[in-house]
Amino acid sequence: MTSQNLDQFLESNISDLKEKGLYNEIDTLEGANGPEIIIEGKKLLNLSSNNYLGLATHQDLKDVAKQAIDSYGVGAGAVRTINGTLDLHIELEKKIAAFKGTEAAIAYQSGFNCNMAAISAVMDKNDAILSDALNHASIIDGCRLSKAKIIRYEHSDMADLRAKVEEATGSGAYNKVMVITDGVFSMDGDIAKLPEIVDIAEEFDLITYVDDAHGSGVTGDGAGTVKHFGLQKKVDFQMGTLSKAIGVIGGYVAGKQSLIDWLKVRSRPFLFSTAVSPADAAASTKAIDMLMKSTELNKKLWENGDYLKKGLKALGFAIGNSETPITPCIIGDEKQAQTFSKRLREEGVYAKAIVFPTVPQGTGRVRNMPTAAHTKEMLDRAIRIYEKIGKEMKLI
Ligand code: PMP
Repeated sequence: MTSQNLDQFLESNISDLKEKGLYNEIDTLEGANGPEIIIEGKKLLNLSSNNYLGLATHQDLKDVAKQAIDSYGVGAGAVRTINGTLDLHIELEKKIAAFKGTEAAIAYQSGFNCNMAAISAVMDKNDAILSDALNHASIIDGCRLSKAKIIRYEHSDMADLRAKVEEATGSGAYNKVMVITDGVFSMDGDIAKLPEIVDIAEEFDLITYVDDAHGSGVTGDGAGTVKHFGLQKKVDFQMGTLSKAIGVIGGYVAGKQSLIDWLKVRSRPFLFSTAVSPADAAASTKAIDMLMKSTELNKKLWENGDYLKKGLKALGFAIGNSETPITPCIIGDEKQAQTFSKRLREEGVYAKAIVFPTVPQGTGRVRNMPTAAHTKEMLDRAIRIYEKIGKEMKLI
């Protein structure tokens, strides 16, 4: 492609996206990502972050991060297998394993590359992966990278999963078969039916993989969705991220020692990309330690989630079937969802519109992410503004 062709390609595709209202303008936060944020000089109540427990700005984590910088510097210095494995990384992995109730754990630089790494290190072109239709993009990309046959089952539809497992295993066409699911689905806040999934996996000898990016720190008193159902011994891969409830950056898989040993010699982002910085590793370890010692922040998160849900439901908004603090406000029409989000912002609430293709067509919504750091006054303010705009737009 010549540079002129590239320019034409970019210009026409960008203007096409803009015409369809699908071009995402990215906002810049002027300051920390807390319960209130500043964008273009305006203070807004933030209902859009994944900072579920408010740990991204917690003083104790800032303190350990600063100490780690003083002792270790700002970078790990090399890929882990060359000489970039710091004792801080090992401490983090031991802490994750204790948190998840597994023999061992491996840390990656992000949740996204963790899924890319771990799925493709174990599955190959002779295998099949059954994947929930609403699984996260990083799972989809990890599955694609593995070259295994990807078989999508309808979202949380156990009859469909069973039928497709029977077909895949019965065909004799595959060496290994995996079932992979989000633990908590981030657009609706519903929880995967792990007990049924694990039963099917046991019956048909499947590998089980749970991406609990939105469950860790949230479900199971903070230990996640696998713990919530008491299935620690029955899930092979407990994957998670350090960037949401943990408040820092990074991803991980917790599981049996043999699995972790394999990932350390075979997963490419571990082998060829430098690890998280000393400050990140130390802060994540501290955050997990705090979650293991106290459920106070977790309780506050659920309290706030319940309060917001009750308030919005009482006003007459459709809040879907969330089983977690994630609170979608389902509007339906995509353009209306976008206008609703825009009006909320003008009135001081930052809650993003989520539209097709992230959610199915006709289910456009504004998604609210209450956190442990929100005060009751903030949530009341949000509910008042929702009422005002809801009435103005004749949605309630
Ligand atoms: N899995 C799921 C289910 C997610 O929601 C996300 C984050 N959007 C990720 C993985 C990726 O995590 P990270 O942001 O740490 O790369």
